[in-house]
Amino acid sequence: MSSLTWPPLRDALVGEEPYGAPQLDVAVALNTNENPYGPSAEAADDIAEAVRSAALGLNRYPDREFTELRSALTDYLNTDGGQDLTPDMVWAANGSNEVMMQILQAFGGPGRTAVSFAPTYAMYPEYARNSLTEWVAGRREDDFSLDLEAARRLVEEVRPAVVLLPSPNNPTGTALPPEAISVLCEAAGNGIVVIDEAYGEFRREGVPSALELIGTHRNLVVTRTMSKAFALAGARLGYLAARPEVVDALRIVRLPYHLSAVTQATALAALRHADELLAKVADLRAERDACVEWLRTQGLRVADSDANFVLFGTFADRHAVWQGLLDAGVLIRETGPEGWLRVSVGTPAEMAAFREALTAVMADPS
Ligand code: PMP
Repeated sequence: MSSLTWPPLRDALVGEEPYGAPQLDVAVALNTNENPYGPSAEAADDIAEAVRSAALGLNRYPDREFTELRSALTDYLNTDGGQDLTPDMVWAANGSNEVMMQILQAFGGPGRTAVSFAPTYAMYPEYARNSLTEWVAGRREDDFSLDLEAARRLVEEVRPAVVLLPSPNNPTGTALPPEAISVLCEAAGNGIVVIDEAYGEFRREGVPSALELIGTHRNLVVTRTMSKAFALAGARLGYLAARPEVVDALRIVRLPYHLSAVTQATALAALRHADELLAKVADLRAERDACVEWLRTQGLRVADSDANFVLFGTFADRHAVWQGLLDAGVLIRETGPEGWLRVSVGTPAEMAAFREALTAVMADPS
């Protein structure tokens, strides 16, 4: 019998830190890629009314299959890249983090491998660890693009059960070309290829969504979230589109009634206000492009971005720069390869505060 330590944490978890950016009370929070524009008073009223109505029935468990919400999410996806998706091809959970954890629980596991390409979203190895799936990370190029031939070779060699690829990638903002998705779906055989489009709505003109390819590749899963473009991070609603048999498999691992009646009502009401909530996407894209340009005029290296954040650098002591900004009331993220920093796109006033603070820090790095 093995002796347990106290508390009896699994060996793989000993010394691990819980994931999460610092939640600090600052004037300008540009560190978690949130949408800086909250819902309007009308949208908030409609959400409150929907939640009130749900509250009257909280003695009952919610609709386990969240039928109405799935149908509303399907309608939305068919306006943004989805082609004739049906509700049996759509699934949701509490944030796309939970959606992805369910994917790993269903398709990963002992003796199976998940693959991604670094630098990428720091939660991916945690999903693998938590689902006892082996983790293999390939590399991105110096400009953070994917060397498609090398990526294909890695997938053919490792034969992963799951490939996790964000497009646009976090923290670099890099979108994948559509041919990359097809090449990897073909290379993966029966393995699942997840294209994580958490930031999909921010992609630049002419960049297609992977949703368009669901009809072509049965192993393709495209995840989305209401946390970013929809300005609903606090509601925790992530979702995906895939072939019905893939969605059906996820039902095996989901916990019963995982989406509360309050969450379902909130998301449905928000979707009724989709046009308003998404109206700021164009402003945020323009603000992002302006931020990229401005950082370049400062002589910095800046990754091209299709998302609502920008990765820039490089700094000999990035922590000092991060701290200098924080001292000026601007919180950004110390993430990505050594020497780089990531700033989320905020309102024009927040971006002005960021520019002012960074100018001051770069003028006086001490
Ligand atoms: N994917 C990527 C690439 C992300 O950056 C994030 C959030 N930072 C998520 C998924 C998860 O977001 P949520 O759980 O809020 O949907």
